[in-house]
Amino acid sequence: MDDIKIVLSEAEIPTHWYNIAADLPTPMPPPLGPDGHPIGADALSAIFPQALIEQEMSSQRWIAIPEPVRDIYRLWRPAPLFRAHHLEQALATPARIYYKYEGGSPAGSHKPNTAVAQAYYNQQEGIRRLTTETGAGQWGSSIALAGAMFNLTVRVYMVRVSYQQKPFRRSMMETWGAQVFSSPSVETATGRAALERDPETPGSLGLAISEAVEDAASRADSHYALGSVLNHVVLHQTVIGLEARAQFNKIGVMPDVVIACCGGGSNFGGTAFPFLMDKAAGREVRLVAVEPDSCPTLTKGRYAYDHGDSACLTPLLPMYSLGHDFIPPGIHAGGLRYHGDSPLVSHLYHLGLIEAVAVPQLATFQAGVTFARAEGILPAPESNHAIRVAIDEALRCKESGEAKTIFFTLSGHGHFDMASYDRYFAGQLEDYVYPESDIAAALAGLRAVS
Ligand SMILES: *Cc1c(COP(=O)(O)O)cnc(C)c1O
Repeated sequence: MDDIKIVLSEAEIPTHWYNIAADLPTPMPPPLGPDGHPIGADALSAIFPQALIEQEMSSQRWIAIPEPVRDIYRLWRPAPLFRAHHLEQALATPARIYYKYEGGSPAGSHKPNTAVAQAYYNQQEGIRRLTTETGAGQWGSSIALAGAMFNLTVRVYMVRVSYQQKPFRRSMMETWGAQVFSSPSVETATGRAALERDPETPGSLGLAISEAVEDAASRADSHYALGSVLNHVVLHQTVIGLEARAQFNKIGVMPDVVIACCGGGSNFGGTAFPFLMDKAAGREVRLVAVEPDSCPTLTKGRYAYDHGDSACLTPLLPMYSLGHDFIPPGIHAGGLRYHGDSPLVSHLYHLGLIEAVAVPQLATFQAGVTFARAEGILPAPESNHAIRVAIDEALRCKESGEAKTIFFTLSGHGHFDMASYDRYFAGQLEDYVYPESDIAAALAGLRAVS
């Protein structure tokens, strides 16, 4: 039997991130300001450091990872690539299944890969304080960790329902020294107005983003940090795919299909974009983004110009979107409940270079339980989406007799999501398909990307 873990040494942690913008067959449409014209770097400088704005707009193929960031990466990277021998046996498939495990980071997901880079560049430019929002708590935890590493004050606006339902994510952030506020909060004008309108509001991600942006924009010592969607975030996450390619090279294997779950798209883009170099070189490899069928951004959304937040404070981004007013059903994969998608992922999907598939909630938990019973690791509900599609591929191989090589990223562990598993076992989880008519209504008024 081949090895279970394919490992790299710390010296083999990538020295550069891969910027797909250098290799696009047609250029990206630009983000637009409120006047409908492309925005310049100055539109972003109130909330982001110069280095990240440059990365956001860069078309340079390789961007060096600063040594202090690589040094922090060494706390959990290189992440192992696992051969899922036990899952293959449980499925009785001739397919070979591999997964990259990002749950070994201190926060338990891939998100610290960008959080530490963002904290570093902010600290280098004299910023003392970072603000952000968090829904399920994965991103807030990651930026709290990164703030501790680079001595920054971190203020997290946490959507009120999650603040109440996930007290241990909050304790985790506070252990790393972050201040966590239930959003809407009395800390900002946006929050106070929302509380006045409805003191009992459960809050929303869009509102929490608006609070964090207002806080950062109102102080010279503060910036805002975003956990997905933007080009620089996807760039930082390419460390996942680059390591995986090096690991596959080590064993002389290359995947036929690459799978990752897709919320804002940084986990999928970070995993898949390095493999587009192989595709461009003529190798056949399918790249599959997996989303919940209750928040089907790529599979049922429109490629349009839309705001990243519900208060319309952000520039208009060219992306597949369900409309910034879209409120997805309360599924348990909180990290996949975003109305839009990374402009880079959207562009490549529009060009037909990547695929997308939407899966229902119950089937994802079923896949996660199958996986945990075979491989041991207990996956995050978001990651269960990728596992579902990997298992479906493997079962198709069983029927056809093909021995394909299937690769997916296991984006995080589910140790803080056990209440969701409890509800699944108690038969209390449902499948929600978002009605086509609601999607059409939420999309009305968006300007198509020409
Ligand atoms: C946030 C999150 C995702 C979604 O990540 P994107 O990069 O926004 O697509 C997936 N898995 C886990 C475990 C997460 O925490």
